Amino acid sequence: MKVLRCMLFVIVPLLAWGRSPQHTPEVPIEKWSGKTIMLIGAHADDDALSHGTLALLEAHGNHVYVVTLTTGNVGTQDPNLSRMQLAEIRRKEELAALAELGIPGDHYVNLGYDDGLLEFEDRKAVVENLVRWIRKLRPTVLMAWDPGKNYQRWHKSDHRAAAYLAADAARAAMWRLLFEGQITQEGLKEWMVPEYLLYNDYDHDDENVWVDISDFVDKKVNAFSKYISQYGPGWKNYKANPSEAEVRQMKEDSRARVRMKDGKPVEGFRYYQGLPDALGK
Ligand SMILES: [Zn+2]
Repeated sequence: MKVLRCMLFVIVPLLAWGRSPQHTPEVPIEKWSGKTIMLIGAHADDDALSHGTLALLEAHGNHVYVVTLTTGNVGTQDPNLSRMQLAEIRRKEELAALAELGIPGDHYVNLGYDDGLLEFEDRKAVVENLVRWIRKLRPTVLMAWDPGKNYQRWHKSDHRAAAYLAADAARAAMWRLLFEGQITQEGLKEWMVPEYLLYNDYDHDDENVWVDISDFVDKKVNAFSKYISQYGPGWKNYKANPSEAEVRQMKEDSRARVRMKDGKPVEGFRYYQGLPDALGK
């Protein structure tokens, strides 16, 4: 009986959806418009890997939201910063970076978990929290750390937790009897995320789409220069207002890191369309 119930849990939505997973977007990402994009990251700056794409999507009439799980209240080499100060700095920097991309401040959501400890949080509570935001925002496209394709991908702490929490939340959000209080008490409705752009920071073997960010490199570079406490001069000795030369250096560092493919600046992703059940296939 248990096996049958488990099988139904898998087969029924497959029949309902009625098609197999796709690994190429029907419309090239550069031509997307009118979509709701939700990026889930662990830290303020995880979205920086995708800033060219986010700026492009925002400029093309999509609605971009960034949901960050931790406040980033730990990652510093400055011995004088408290957790409170760092969390406030990270929020300010993230909002400044998103503003450079044209993304409004109220499209940034921080769920307030502690930096560095995400995998030790109550997983059910975190998934419930993410499910609530998925049901609120009803994204057509979910961007997240890639949990791995046919294997569990290793990421550093927080990133690996965020990868699986996002995938698990995408799956839970479509089941109306999971976290049903959100539906019966909060006026939300179940939601199945149909498309995914999965990102990764160092290993690009599983990528299957590359977004041409030619027109958005400057925005990406300018946004990066807002992360003063994470890169450049603020890492060891934070100051809110770095010198012009220091900002220039941060921009140069960022520009040097832009990836090139076929002579064009790009950001790469693993695109997936289909049921969240098969996200890793
Ligand atoms: Zn991170």
